[in-house]
Amino acid sequence: MFPKLAEDLAELPALLEETRAYAERILTGLDARPVATGPVEHPPAALPEDGTGLRGALRTFASRWEPGFSASAGPRYLGFVTGGTTPAALAGDWLTAALDQNAHGAVGSSATALEREAVSWLGALFGLDRPGAFVTGATMSNLVGLATGREWLGSLSGGSVAEDGVTTPIRVLSGTPHSSIAKAMSVLGLGRRNLVPVATLPDREAVDVAALERELAAGPAIVVANAGTVNTVDFDDLRAIAALKSRYEFWLHVDAAFGGFAAVSPDFAPLLDGWAEADSVCVDLHKWLNVPYDSAVQFTRRPDLQLRVFENVSSYLGAPADTPDFMHLTPETSRRLRALAAWFALAAYGRAGYREIVERNVFCAKEMGARLDRGSRWRLLAPVRLNVVCFTLAADATTERVKEALDAVARSGEAFLTPTVHHGTPAVRAAFSNWRTTAADVDRICTALGA
Ligand SMILES: *Cc1c(COP(=O)(O)O)cnc(C)c1O
Repeated sequence: MFPKLAEDLAELPALLEETRAYAERILTGLDARPVATGPVEHPPAALPEDGTGLRGALRTFASRWEPGFSASAGPRYLGFVTGGTTPAALAGDWLTAALDQNAHGAVGSSATALEREAVSWLGALFGLDRPGAFVTGATMSNLVGLATGREWLGSLSGGSVAEDGVTTPIRVLSGTPHSSIAKAMSVLGLGRRNLVPVATLPDREAVDVAALERELAAGPAIVVANAGTVNTVDFDDLRAIAALKSRYEFWLHVDAAFGGFAAVSPDFAPLLDGWAEADSVCVDLHKWLNVPYDSAVQFTRRPDLQLRVFENVSSYLGAPADTPDFMHLTPETSRRLRALAAWFALAAYGRAGYREIVERNVFCAKEMGARLDRGSRWRLLAPVRLNVVCFTLAADATTERVKEALDAVARSGEAFLTPTVHHGTPAVRAAFSNWRTTAADVDRICTALGA
């Protein structure tokens, strides 16, 4: 064995303890770490010829790279929609690497049985009783949903897109789709140009269902309904969209990347009314479930069609069984057991724990909205419906001035927020989805914003 490897093996318990202690210092220091840092530029280092062993690698990382890492896992990082990592999810993720299972199939391990349990727990959490699988993020979850919808549309004329390719253009209809929908369409050969924007309601990001109906009258399509838009967390009327199924042929995919967590609180679950009628559903887990990157779940009503798209038959892997292995249902073949971190999180905190996190995050968002409203520097661009505050400068809200204000907040190290454009207005989004965030953080964030 290579000497440094043999030394690391001999010293494994002590090295793991040092790594654990290092992780502990990082986590207990989260509050003092700048919430965001600029990228630290280093002169390139050459590939080590002999390496330094784990202890040396830890030292090099700690001095060269770690200082440039942000506190994105902490309570005042409100950029994008960024969750943190709960203690149980962290432990589950460590053990995922320690056990290093390949969750492609059921041969020789219970790993995939655990994944099925985690998917069914998520289904129970969200009120969606159907099969599903773990994928790397909402982009991949959307891609799997659209791929299955593509197969369904092909089957209407007796064909199979999986076998023959796309022979007739497929339209994807949506009011305010996330950018990952166009990306998935590009990957799937549907073409970004076939994403048909459907009118939204006045002053809303939710789709105008009457306009959607007019598009559906032109022929079968995939409908991407949005359950939580990124700017204002607006929800399409999923019940009304699902009702159109009795009159028109369409595949209903719901992108509920973070809005799906409305289901865990009776206060917000009505926003998702009707979503159980969807053919496929996307929910991100590295956002509001607060598991580490990268993790999402996709739910499907038609595992048979999903199998046609993703089946991966070979002499050494065998043919799919009655309950197909995950490698026959997802883009990956070899797969990380990312279900384990989610399983630990759900085992540790359960339904009640997630309800508390979601309700506290929404409370924080509403508090922040109220404070911005009372002050004179900022103004809200939409009501705070769930966990995102969308706002802009009260006066002279140019792209440059919004950026300057956000840069100043980031330089203070107190908070991190990201810019957007809402209905043509340069704006800011503050997205609450971290399990650690409290009202005291809202106070610090608002002070940093001069609100
Ligand atoms: C974040 C998000 C996505 C993309 O998710 P990734 O996990 O970054 O792939 C898709 N849709 C919505 C609504 C999102 O918020």
